[in-house]
Amino acid sequence: MKVLVLGGGVIGTTTAYYLAKQGVEVTVVERQHNVAEETSFGNAGQISPGYSTPWAAPGIPLKAAKWLLEKHAPFAVRPDGSLWQLQWAMQMFANCNADRYSINKERMMRVAEYSRDCLQQLRKDTNISYEHRERGTLQLFRKQAQMDVVGRDIEVLKECGVDYQLLNRDELPTIEPALIHAKDKLVGGLRLPNDETGDCNIFTKSLAKIAEGLGVKFLFNTTIADIEHQNNAITGIITADGERLVADNYVLAFGSYSRPFAEKLQLKLPVYPVKGYSLTVPIIDESLAPVSTVLDETFKIAITRFDNRIRVGGMAELSGFNTDLPVARRETLQMVSQELFGGGDFANARFWTGLRPMTPDGTPIIGESRFANLYINTGHGTLGWTMACGSGQLIADIITHTPTQISLEGLSAARYN
Ligand SMILES: Cc1cc2nc3c(=O)[nH]c(=O)nc-3n(C[C@H](O)[C@H](O)[C@H](O)COP(=O)(O)OP(=O)(O)OC[C@H]3O[C@@H](n4cnc5c(N)ncnc54)[C@H](O)[C@@H]3O)c2cc1C
Repeated sequence: MKVLVLGGGVIGTTTAYYLAKQGVEVTVVERQHNVAEETSFGNAGQISPGYSTPWAAPGIPLKAAKWLLEKHAPFAVRPDGSLWQLQWAMQMFANCNADRYSINKERMMRVAEYSRDCLQQLRKDTNISYEHRERGTLQLFRKQAQMDVVGRDIEVLKECGVDYQLLNRDELPTIEPALIHAKDKLVGGLRLPNDETGDCNIFTKSLAKIAEGLGVKFLFNTTIADIEHQNNAITGIITADGERLVADNYVLAFGSYSRPFAEKLQLKLPVYPVKGYSLTVPIIDESLAPVSTVLDETFKIAITRFDNRIRVGGMAELSGFNTDLPVARRETLQMVSQELFGGGDFANARFWTGLRPMTPDGTPIIGESRFANLYINTGHGTLGWTMACGSGQLIADIITHTPTQISLEGLSAARYN
């Protein structure tokens, strides 16, 4: 069986790997010169099933309205000139109630927990290394009001069987020693000891090499311009150079660009490009650097330790496909990072932006489409790195008619019909 995987981000690459492991002949088609050059390039590095929560939560519409007025706010909206932006926001707000939240959270956690298990197995199988650490994640609270409502999150963690530790201000440095210098700004934290961290870009590039060893072909610098179909089946794709490529099955993994591409087939995928930013900072003083990931709840900014670098990532902007790099965003990332960990060489930091492929319900779209041989693997939003291995394994199982290890309920695009 031949499969064309459209897109070489972390999602397309894991899909290719798991398909190849099952004996499928796979080609990945990618417009960049390598895998993981777009959204999978510079994310915040958290493998965080424990924080697999939809952004669409009760209370978010009110919070979003307040954030629109703040200078260092985690959320911003700039009209992108499309009606679609408004429709997507309305769909997201429609998910901001307790019932939808718990349905969406269960689906996200199901994929994320499974994905972490798949990643752990992949590490055993391949010895892949990507500056990863298994030292948990720590959510930091600056205000007592944040600590006061954490009980709600803890209830959910208990229900889902996720281990946690609630820490007071004085206990924070036992987990993150450098926080001794920032203690006065903090009131406490919630630690999820089973979360992991690692560089998604290094992982994806290493996995692509491993996949090549299993026979996967990568067609780089190849933009897919069109897709052909007949009688509810895909018959081929056309590259920007006019070349026609054919296979038995196709997997759409274009991240944020999946929606405009799917429109060519009149398929509606509610995936909006939610812009985020990161700063990658060389470490100059280890004693002032984090040892794992901390998540500053006030600014919704994650700070992750790689070997000799710190990755500071966050913010969510609804501003279409624009990828400019405003100085004010960099300043916010730097300010938060320096307040907590002063050990970075900020003059030599690399500022980056990426477009999270976000669904209004937070759950990715994994599964079949109404075209018999087209499968969708996209919409992983804030958690594509966390969910990548599980999503790749699921699509591979679906295509090869292998029973999946978790339920597929609510994961395909059919849930929007
Ligand atoms: C600031 C920030 C922080 C984040 N932090 C985390 C985190 O800590 N943990 C976590 O789990 N997730 C995180 N994420 C989310 C995660 O990075 C994404 O969900 C994930 O990278 C999406 O992967 P993807 O493969 O779907 O998309 P992409 O990586 O964008 O891959 C899609 C690929 O398709 C290709 N493509 C598109 N159109 C075409 C075409 N026409 N022809 C050929 N190729 C095409 C693109 O070049 C691209 O390589 C973060 C994201 C951001 C922006």
